[in-house]
Amino acid sequence: AKEQGKARCVAFQADMHTRLVDQLDQERRLRVAIDRGELRLYLQPIVDTVAGRTEGVEALVRWQDPQAGLRAPGTFLPLAESTGLITDIDRWVLRESCLTLRAWQDEDPAGAPDWITVNISAALLDSPDLPDLVTRTLRDTGLRPEALLLEVTETTLMRDVAGTAPRLERLRSCGVRIAIDDFGTGYSSLGYLRDIPADVLKIDRSFLDGLVGSARHRDLLAAVVQLGHTLGLRVVAEGVEDAAQLAELVGLGCRYAQGYHLARPAPVAALRAAAQPVGG
Ligand code: C2E
Ligand code: CA
Ligand code: CA
Repeated sequence: AKEQGKARCVAFQADMHTRLVDQLDQERRLRVAIDRGELRLYLQPIVDTVAGRTEGVEALVRWQDPQAGLRAPGTFLPLAESTGLITDIDRWVLRESCLTLRAWQDEDPAGAPDWITVNISAALLDSPDLPDLVTRTLRDTGLRPEALLLEVTETTLMRDVAGTAPRLERLRSCGVRIAIDDFGTGYSSLGYLRDIPADVLKIDRSFLDGLVGSARHRDLLAAVVQLGHTLGLRVVAEGVEDAAQLAELVGLGCRYAQGYHLARPAPVAALRAAAQPVGG
């Protein structure tokens, strides 16, 4: 029995070892990916349903992995978060986003979106040089501060409301705006909304599940939209997948929508080509 236990222990250690080597290899490949320019910027339109126009875009990162092809953030951001590489990715996305929108606005002032929204990880939010990073990036790229929104998830905001609020206030004093992302998923008390300075509320797509045909679901969503408006926030519904959901949202007075039904995330060139009038 003792020998068996020993054998199992050795097998366990070998398995641990393999996983550790594998993890280190993944981490090395991700680091190289950032340095070699394998990250790609995808943009998803955020539509003003009243004006019928793309008012803003959300920046969503992809990894063009030479081995595995185009990778969604869910396949590499968890590793990036546990190894600290996430802040390098966020910095790259921030810079690339400002450069991209600046160029678009220069070349097509009437057709370009008014703003771009960039996801900020908890680690970057905690980094003391975030306000400097943002002002420096805006200055270097020439993008107006009003054209930049920073998205922070509700879960990240709730970790330390007292510590986070002044940091967001500092960012807002530079002219950039703040969006609360994934609203309604944090199992939070609503008290933090009073203290967190924000401009935009992004309602998590789970609120759209079962919306069509269920009065209870509709009433709940209506209350959330109302809450956002009462707080003076712009309200964006995320994950709109069909025309029926969009119609419900518009009926509830939710003006801004994002989702596959309106447009999928795409590289800037594809978005611009799609927005080009036929023959133009
Ligand atoms: P998120 O910030 O909530 O972004 C929205 C996600 O929903 C995106 O997934 C988008 O492609 C997807 N989506 C949009 N419309 C629909 C729809 O109609 N139906 C469904 N089912 N999904 C829709 P994506 O691009 O895979 O990103 C996943 C998450 O990864 C993001 O969720 C965000 O939390 C994170 N992420 C993406 N890019 C960055 C980044 O540059 N930095 C950081 N820190 N996180 C990022
Ligand atoms: Ca987001
Ligand atoms: Ca979201």
